[in-house]
Amino acid sequence: AEANVGVVGLAAMGASLARNLARHGNKVAVYNRSYARTEKLIAEHGDEGAFFPAETMEAFVDSLAKPRTAIIMVKAGEPTDAMIDALADLMEPGDIIVDAGNAHFPDTIRREKAISARGLHFVGCGVSGGEEGALLGPSMMPGGTEESWTTLKPIFESIAAKAEGEPCVTHIGADGAGHFVKMVHNGIEYSDMQLIAESYDLMRRGLGMTPAEIGDVFAAWNETELDSYLIEITAEVLRQVDKKTGKPLVDLIVDHAGMKGTGTWTVQAALDLAVPVTGIGEAVFARGLSSQGDLREEAQRQGFDGPTGAIDMPAEDCAAFVEDIREALYASKIVAYAQGFNEITEAAKKYGWDIDLAAVARIWRGGCIIRAKFLNRISEAFESGEANVSLLFAPYFKDAIETAQRSWRRVVSRAVAFGIPVPAFSSSLAYFDGLRSDRLPAALIQGQRDYFGAHTYQRVDMPGAFHTLWATEEREEIEA
Ligand code: NDP
Repeated sequence: AEANVGVVGLAAMGASLARNLARHGNKVAVYNRSYARTEKLIAEHGDEGAFFPAETMEAFVDSLAKPRTAIIMVKAGEPTDAMIDALADLMEPGDIIVDAGNAHFPDTIRREKAISARGLHFVGCGVSGGEEGALLGPSMMPGGTEESWTTLKPIFESIAAKAEGEPCVTHIGADGAGHFVKMVHNGIEYSDMQLIAESYDLMRRGLGMTPAEIGDVFAAWNETELDSYLIEITAEVLRQVDKKTGKPLVDLIVDHAGMKGTGTWTVQAALDLAVPVTGIGEAVFARGLSSQGDLREEAQRQGFDGPTGAIDMPAEDCAAFVEDIREALYASKIVAYAQGFNEITEAAKKYGWDIDLAAVARIWRGGCIIRAKFLNRISEAFESGEANVSLLFAPYFKDAIETAQRSWRRVVSRAVAFGIPVPAFSSSLAYFDGLRSDRLPAALIQGQRDYFGAHTYQRVDMPGAFHTLWATEEREEIEA
């Protein structure tokens, strides 16, 4: 028993993770249901470090030094459950099973309960960065017990991405906390992408710019506070020319956005917690609408009257409007992050997780899809306590939003006037305006609820719960 860590499941993700582990001096036991994958890994990459290939699960477990640490990277759902059960049957109390797949956090909570009842540790670990991240350094979000973290810390720190020298991994919290935070990361990724897409649409359809010109705009934006992986790759996607036709590739790609479900989970969890994540929600819905092919085709046939999306503006004003779009993107992005962190805060209260939000922001600076320079500012805001209630109240971000505000409003109002949908821009602005409003029309809603359902209401001028006898002549108010 020599290996200090093992990997179960050697498809794209697991093989990359195993190689990353071996390249960083770990002794890595490897097992896959069908041995051919294991043989392939050893044949192609066996010289990259110390691998201990096992043909059976028994041999795999035997090759691990105690406490045994096995990372599962197989198909999410039932296959993951099957591998967890098989490992648990062979392992001993104190051993650690890590699920590094994309599990839904309630599954992780359930699995942790079952495995810890058997005296073993179960760690649900979010891993971001795709196959390349798994090989070269992912951002890692482990949950589970403090005790398991003691064993996992040096192993995970050896393979995680580094941001300004710090490994992009931290113990997030108990049971499902890691997978929850990974889920919200993906939700934020959806909103980031949607905001970028809306910016592109405003320039492409609105201002009639070419994809290459817009690519240059994004490349320039990447030198500002928007500096991030997603802005960088956007510039590259937009500059790509199709080899066959010589046309901009983006113009040839079918405009139906796919999704695998983590964005939807983020919104579902937010609905359960009654936390508005409008930026993420609109991003998920926008992908949904894009993929409703029949509905969209019929809408084309209907030929609705209305503006075409071309923004009527003198050419000399276009540069200023592009700058407005950048400001609107930045402000909306801040709102989406504030909402995402708010969701983590509320979930932590509900599920009893002790989550350090500054640390979460820090480990998102490298390895993952939403890596961005401004996560430094976010971690500082949480570290100083300025963002305790909301990121929007930290002076740096409050100032940024106030500075961007006029541009943001111009962009949303022009988009509405000229017929370009900007659901994420406008819902983020609506959230901000709702937040800053002294009074909300919720007062009227309370009145309606009391009218049809006797749900009662509170008054601003006296304590207590009240009900109005709406159906009577006098419409008397009574204390409920
Ligand atoms: P897949 O999701 O394609 O799963 C293939 C692996 O699962 C193979 O090792 C396969 O074994 C194994 N497997 C499937 N069914 C069973 C079963 N019933 N019993 C045992 N093993 C089984 O592999 P990926 O590498 O793409 O992804 C692995 C995990 O990582 C998934 O949970 C996925 O959601 C997640 N993921 C994460 C990404 C990220 O960016 N974080 C990106 C992609 C995936 P066999 O070879 O014998 O068929």
